[in-house]
Amino acid sequence: MNLVLLGPPGVGKGTQANHLAKEFDFKLISTGDILRNQVQKNTTLGLKAKKFVKIGKLVPDNIILDIIVTHTKNNHPYIFDGFPRTVKQAMGLEHTTKKRGLSLDAVIYLYCNENVIIERLSKRRVCPLCGKIYNLITNPPKNGNKCDLCNESLKQREDDREEIIKNRLKIYQRQTMPLLEFYEQKRILHKIDGSKPEKQVYETIRDVILKERSD
Ligand code: AMP
Repeated sequence: MNLVLLGPPGVGKGTQANHLAKEFDFKLISTGDILRNQVQKNTTLGLKAKKFVKIGKLVPDNIILDIIVTHTKNNHPYIFDGFPRTVKQAMGLEHTTKKRGLSLDAVIYLYCNENVIIERLSKRRVCPLCGKIYNLITNPPKNGNKCDLCNESLKQREDDREEIIKNRLKIYQRQTMPLLEFYEQKRILHKIDGSKPEKQVYETIRDVILKERSD
């Protein structure tokens, strides 16, 4: 089965996607992580994407769809985090999966109040080595500002500054929200309250997956 996690930045898609990928053996495709990695390595793709990622604007659809085609060559079950973000990307995903005789089985929409999101994103810290995500209030590292797993100093993402967060939320409203109707019409949308505690959100998503699998 293939799954999409949809929702505003900071709602917890990345954290949930990582847990789900481990438990259910999904291959995780996070377009944000792929882009940040390319930007860091100064690749051709990274240089093209940098100016968009830095200010929280969406990277053009054709670049994103090329990434998806390259990263979904095998018939593995996939979980997509942060993709699709526009109707054009959703149509591209549909095209790619159909061509391979696959389908998108469920779209998990995590929703959350904007004030909670701004608070969460401004307190988010990430390990630059292993990618583990922390929240200084709800899920702080055990040892100062160091990653629990690799002891690397945690970083704040450049686009997690308040003025950029607001921009990302505006773009989300305008360009990504229309996807709700797109997937609602296909009857694969599951709405889950992302403001609940992480474990509770995880259990709810898990139930959806187990149910989809048994149908
Ligand atoms: P994320 O880590 O998912 O919040 O993504 C960080 C940034 O990467 C976004 O603000 C965009 O600039 C870019 N990005 C990630 N995924 C996409 C996508 N599917 N479409 C366009 N831009 C994206």
